[in-house]
Amino acid sequence: MNQQQFENFTASSLYCEKCKAAMPVRERLLLVLPDREIFDYLCTGCGSSVGRREITAGEKLMAEAMARRLPRRSVALQ
Ligand SMILES: [Zn+2]
Repeated sequence: MNQQQFENFTASSLYCEKCKAAMPVRERLLLVLPDREIFDYLCTGCGSSVGRREITAGEKLMAEAMARRLPRRSVALQ
């Protein structure tokens, strides 16, 4: 697992420490704030949280415009 690889991730799969592998993830809306939304990523193998993403209002507009090409800095490991 290297940094470069992680930066290229979209929401489709993330490394899971329990499964010891990159696993497909489920996106769950965790929190809605006036200026941003926070999403949690759950491993589809074991159900544990493997990542989190914040989308600001501006980024959300961008994201909607650009489909799945989200800004990479909005993805963070826990
Ligand atoms: Zn897992």
